[in-house]
This record gives sequence, structure tokens and C-alpha cells, in this order.
Amino acid sequence: MSAASIRSLSKSKQTARIVIIGAGTAGIAAATRLLEQGFKNVLLLEAEDRIGGRINTIPFADNVIDLGAQWCHGEVGNVVYERVKDLNLLETTEGHYETFRCVRSNKEVLSDEVADNLKSIAFNSIPERQTELTDYKGSLGDYLTQKYWKELEKLPAINQTIAEEFLENFHKFESSVEAADHLYEVSGRGHLEYWLCEGELLLNWRDKGYKSFLRLLMQSKQNNPDDLGVLKGRVLLNKRIAQINWTGADEVLIRCWNGEVLTADHVICTVSLGVLKEQHSQLFVPALPEAKVRAIKGLKLGTVDKLFLEYALPPLPKDWPGFCCLWLAEDLQELRSSARFWLESVFGFYPVSYQPRLLQGWIIGEHARHMETLTEEQVLEGLLWLFRKFLPFDVPQPVRCLRTQWHANPNFRGSYTFRTTMADELRTGAWDLEAPLLDIGGRPRLQFAGEASHKHYYSTVHGAAETGWREADRLNSYYRSKTAQL
Ligand SMILES: Cc1cc2nc3c(=O)[nH]c(=O)nc-3n(C[C@H](O)[C@H](O)[C@H](O)COP(=O)(O)OP(=O)(O)OC[C@H]3O[C@@H](n4cnc5c(N)ncnc54)[C@H](O)[C@@H]3O)c2cc1C
Repeated sequence: MSAASIRSLSKSKQTARIVIIGAGTAGIAAATRLLEQGFKNVLLLEAEDRIGGRINTIPFADNVIDLGAQWCHGEVGNVVYERVKDLNLLETTEGHYETFRCVRSNKEVLSDEVADNLKSIAFNSIPERQTELTDYKGSLGDYLTQKYWKELEKLPAINQTIAEEFLENFHKFESSVEAADHLYEVSGRGHLEYWLCEGELLLNWRDKGYKSFLRLLMQSKQNNPDDLGVLKGRVLLNKRIAQINWTGADEVLIRCWNGEVLTADHVICTVSLGVLKEQHSQLFVPALPEAKVRAIKGLKLGTVDKLFLEYALPPLPKDWPGFCCLWLAEDLQELRSSARFWLESVFGFYPVSYQPRLLQGWIIGEHARHMETLTEEQVLEGLLWLFRKFLPFDVPQPVRCLRTQWHANPNFRGSYTFRTTMADELRTGAWDLEAPLLDIGGRPRLQFAGEASHKHYYSTVHGAAETGWREADRLNSYYRSKTAQL
């Protein structure tokens, strides 16, 4: 037996060095579970100057806003909900995303009757995940469009042009749910494999934000917002990893961008799919196996950005619970030939729970990536122009505007993952991303966690948390079976 093999066999939960790359949900879930399981040597390396990753709750206006994850999606089978349900942290969100007004680019506001009919047809055209798509081979966009027009035949009184404008807007809305540039790249079958947790789908964190969940995982002190709880002394911030070298039979070498090298017995990599796409060929030595590279190629991390506008007073009339933008064809044509073309993908503005002075807009896809390259002044100027174009009343000047830049940030390169039709063609998916890389003796050396590696709950915080626990449990099982063999 080689010296390296003997050294690795002699490791125990007390001595094994585990390095987790990334202190987002998956990394924090993995680290806290490993500590619970009795591992002593656990370290998180995080590229940003903060923990949380795509959970980023910041102080803003009257309390806080979430730049990333905002709602707990569902109850049954949702580990986030399970953890907090008795703590009075979550609340059902008012119908902000159902009762919004539909406004055309000539300022015409659809009547409640027409708007309600179109919304109900569109929402009912989203396939019932587990029942309707079993044999469907096409994209979500094909499915939704066909069903929408079929259902609309039952309501001949609705103007065809308005129905088309609404469908265009709904495509963008649903693309934001999927994080796709458009629904024609979303696998219908993938949609089926995504599990929706039954119960309320938009549970908000009152005036505390999604960071409450991470604080709970870490057992942070109530009165100290920066307390890392059980992770105190175990997180190194501003540690961007440039290379993970798992060539040798013994240690894994982790090289940071500043040249510093750390060693570990096990590495759990939780960086986003966007980071993997951009960096996997330099990040891992030796290169990742073909199946994993196929998954990295086939799955996609789309871009969804938020646009926050803060006002001195609530900006919209009381009977305006937000609005969506329906473009007339001629206006859209004009917009497309102007520098403000990116506004086409801003699909609507909605209130924010516990923040009466805010409006939250959404933008998706390629236009979101373009928006991220503009200055904040240019973004604000564009949004104010959009308001003037659509709204039949004046909106005051905001006191502040903030937009997210999830794609521009090299530590994310996007917002959340979906399953593409290309992944279907490549016969790949989250299962290939999840597969750990073991040494010849079956010892996990390089493991993968993060939302994209969850087969059913990808794109969510509850999915990310489960993947962190999954990899902690994998290591725990390995050490338990090793002890049993001795
Ligand atoms: C705009 C937006 C809205 C969302 N809304 C919701 C929602 O309402 N509900 C919901 O459930 N989910 C939502 N999500 C998705 C949810 O935020 C993610 O699924 C989840 O937070 C991902 O956690 P993770 O640990 O997998 O990845 P991340 O949070 O991305 O963690 C990975 C960490 O790795 C770090 N990292 C990257 N590269 C390196 C490197 N080279 N070296 C060291 N560290 C590195 C990153 O900085 C990051 O902190 C939203 C996301 C976005 C962006």
C-alpha cells in the first residue's frame, strides 16, 4: 500500500480536512451539517466579500430587500419551509403577481374582465407538471403557446391583437420563472421533472429577508446581523479559487487567485453552473469527466434581474397593485431600433411586501445582460421613459434606483438554472453534475453541490440546501463505513 493510501485511510472525522468552495446556501448547508455530524476540520472559501451567494439580503428603504432569492416556494417537501414553519418567519404574499393591471403601450388599460380572462387562460396553459407532459418531447414554449390559443378559441370576444400582446408578455413572465431567455429553449420534459412543492408558492420573509434562513442554519445570534454562529472562524472571504488539483492520490491542492495554496482531503465545490461553464476547463486538474462536462454544457443558468425603485411615498394609485407592459407591434418596432431596445424585456412592476414605497421590476434574458452593462443613470432614464410611455398618470421621481447584475458578476454568471431541450438531446442532467469524483478506493475527493445539481428542486434555495446536505451525508456515510470496516 502506498504512503498516500495509508495516510488517507488513517483519516477520521476528527482529522479529515474538508474544504467547501462557496459560502452560498449549498456551502453553508454542507458545512453546518458536517459539523453536526462530528467533522472537526471544515473550511469555507468564498470569492465574494460576504456569505450567502445568491441569497443577498441588504438594507434598503424601510427595511431590507432581497437582490437574489426572495420567496420560499411552497410548503410540502420544502426543507426551508419545514425548518421555519413554526417560527413565524414566513408570510403569504398578497396577490401582487395575480392582481396586476395590464397596460398597452398606448396607455390603454385592459378592463378587469379581459385581463382576468387572459391571465386565467395563460396560467392554465402552464402544464400540470406531473400529469400533462409525460410523453411531451418539445419545448415549454411550444406547449404553452398551443394550449393558450386553443383555450382562447372558447372566448371569441377577446380581441386577437390584445391576446397576442398578452401572450408575448406572459412568455417573458414565465421565462423569468424558468430563468430562460425564451421558453422555446426550456425542455418540456424538464419542466415535468421539476417538482413543485404543494402549498403557498410565494412565502415572503416579512421585513427580514431570505438571509433569515441562513442565519438559522448557522445558529447566528439574534442581535448580531454579522454573526456566523457555528461557522465563526471557518469562513474565508475574498478567497476566489483559480484551480482545484486532485491529481495526486493524497491531498487535493486548492490554488487561490492570489497564488495562495491550501490543501484538503475532500473538496465540495458549490460554485454556480455559470462559473462552471466559464471556468471548468481551467478550474479542474485533471479535466472533469466527459459526462460532467456534457451536463455543464447542456444545462443553462439564465439571467433574471431585479429593478428596484424607491419613492418618497407609495408611487402608484391605491387600485394599481402593479402592472405589466403590453407592447403594440408598431411601438415595439420603434423601440427595437432605439438605444432603449432592452426595455422590451422589462415585463412588469410589482409591489414589495413590507415596503410600501418600492416598486420592483423584472427583466430577463439577453436584454437583462445588456442592461447590466449600462450605468445606473441610463437604467433609471430608461425606466422613467417606460413609465411615461405606458402609464396614464404621472409617477413621481424616485429617490433611488437599484438594479441587480447577476450575470456580470464572475462569481455567478447568471441567476438560476433550467433544463434545456439541448440537455434532453445530450441525454444529460443534474444527475451527471451531482456525481462525485472518487479515488480508486471509493473515497470521495471532489464533490459537487449547488442548486443546479438537484434533479427536482434546481433553481431554488430549498434545492441548494438539499444538495449541501446530500454531500455532507455522502462524506459521513463514507467515514461511517470506513470505521465499520476497521
Ligand atoms: C434574482 C434571483 C431571484 C431568485 N429568487 C428565488 C426565490 O424567490 N426563491 C428561491 O428558492 N430561489 C430563488 N433564487 C435561486 C436561489 O437564490 C439559488 O438557487 C440559491 O441561492 C443557490 O445557492 P447555491 O449555494 O447553489 O449557489 P450560490 O448561492 O451561487 O453559492 C455559490 C457561492 O460560490 C461562490 N463562488 C463562485 N466562484 C467561486 C470561486 N472561484 N471561488 C470561491 N467561491 C466562489 C459564489 O460567490 C457564491 O457565494 C433566485 C436567484 C436569483 C439570482
